[in-house]
Amino acid sequence: MRAVVMHAPGDVRVDTLDKPTIVEPTDAIIRVTAACICGSDLWPFRGIEEVNQPTPMGHEYIGVVDEVGDEVGDIEVGDFVVGSFVASDNTCEICQAGFQSRCIHQVMMGSIGTQADYARIPLADGTLVKVFGEPTPEQTRSLLAASDVLGTGWFAAVAAEAGPGKSVAVVGDGAVGLLAILAAKQLGADRIIAMSRHADRQALAKKFGATDIVEERGKVGVAKIKELTGGYGAHSTVEAVGTQESMLQAIGATRPGGHVGYVGVSHGVELDGLDLFFATVSLLGGPAPVRRFLPELVDLIMTDQIDPGIVFDLEVPIEDAAEGYKAMDERRATKVLLTL
Ligand SMILES: [Zn+2]
Repeated sequence: MRAVVMHAPGDVRVDTLDKPTIVEPTDAIIRVTAACICGSDLWPFRGIEEVNQPTPMGHEYIGVVDEVGDEVGDIEVGDFVVGSFVASDNTCEICQAGFQSRCIHQVMMGSIGTQADYARIPLADGTLVKVFGEPTPEQTRSLLAASDVLGTGWFAAVAAEAGPGKSVAVVGDGAVGLLAILAAKQLGADRIIAMSRHADRQALAKKFGATDIVEERGKVGVAKIKELTGGYGAHSTVEAVGTQESMLQAIGATRPGGHVGYVGVSHGVELDGLDLFFATVSLLGGPAPVRRFLPELVDLIMTDQIDPGIVFDLEVPIEDAAEGYKAMDERRATKVLLTL
């Protein structure tokens, strides 16, 4: 089968690998019908994360179940399914509390790779969510977004306690930040301030529900958020980048008593204890428990209440995956869909 493999930073190829087989009786094999390239795939592509050996890529996926292990009960061959970037049993105490991304039996899908014709999905009953009905091409795109970027943006907005009567600031205008805006709007936030300096992304932010745009960054950006919120700062702030600057911007933009939902994968972030002490904000973040939200998100998508799939602005066949990585790296594309 075809699979996207990273051989070294900047060196992405489509190799021929063996089709995966059932390893554990709780596994399923799916035929991937669409996959995509994640912002986090750019960390190794840029050499910020090491690539020690040829590594199969990808952790976002939708597809059709091709084979199931003996202990899989709820998922059947032929089901059209969507899953998240962490396989989880959905039964342990952590999962039951809604934090499936840290399931005690978690398997990171990135360690398996889903930018391929087929993928092995561990803990299939807990991980996969069935989609009923025949999705349109638009709905298919949106279901793929639900697999990671929408689910992650949604978690960030929930963790930041976005809701009616709240002002929400969003740091980061990648796919996750943009979809956190969509989530904040769905959750009923009054005011949504997008921090972005790219015209095309500002336009998409407004389409998803942003009421204000702040182009400034750092201390000036924080001052601008305060100015827009009566001098207080936002009630809720989403951090969707993962750098020192973005994290400090998020905490600084939040009023005392407010909440920060941080979902940008942290790279070199160090927080000063005393500054954090006096910030007086709640911090909740980490790998998003997308599985918690998937049934609701699938329903919103299949009833056309949300259209997160418009975040994909480049579609390439899997053979051209290298071009897709390059386009995202050079910021020519926000989010790339790989067709199979
Ligand atoms: Zn669990």
